[in-house]
Amino acid sequence: MHKTKSKNKERQLIIIDLDDTLIDTYSFKNIIFDKLALESGLTKKEIEEIYQEIKRKGNKNLLSTFCLEIGNKSNKDKNIFEKTILSAVKTIKINKEVLNFVKKTKGDKILLTQGETKFQKAKIEFLKEKTKIDKILSDIVITKNDKAQFISSKIKRNKFIFKGKSYNTITILDDKLDLFYDLRMYPFIGLIHPKEIE
Ligand SMILES: [Mg+2]
Repeated sequence: MHKTKSKNKERQLIIIDLDDTLIDTYSFKNIIFDKLALESGLTKKEIEEIYQEIKRKGNKNLLSTFCLEIGNKSNKDKNIFEKTILSAVKTIKINKEVLNFVKKTKGDKILLTQGETKFQKAKIEFLKEKTKIDKILSDIVITKNDKAQFISSKIKRNKFIFKGKSYNTITILDDKLDLFYDLRMYPFIGLIHPKEIE
């Protein structure tokens, strides 16, 4: 069999973040902190402090530990709080400008999000339902580890290799670009902040 050699074939990929990129997680958090305060009897300040403390420790199960901790402090079942968060997912605002930008961008598209599977899945399901984004995505990846680590683990000789496909131009769309600081050494990787689109 002859091997067809494609000369300088450009294969583009955009890697899109979920929280505070495609969806407004900041406002969502504010809503759930209010709801959790009301249900637990703790103050919103206490709720926020619990959240920040768990986050500061770099806990990989941020939201379930958060609910557990609220449960411990209020003597209530953590499941009540998990249910509150999961049902509030339907109130999340979608960042339409970013969504339109992603739709218009050429090449393959991967949604890459870091967090706890259960909660990330709920947000993604909501997003799919509202926007049919799954129709334009090549893949959805939920990672508990660092996103930059995930990306660099797929880089081989100035190419990004993912599921048998090789890409020579990558754009990372993320609200926390400092996470990708170490990837700046690769000239084929570009970074965009969602604020640049809005
Ligand atoms: Mg984000």
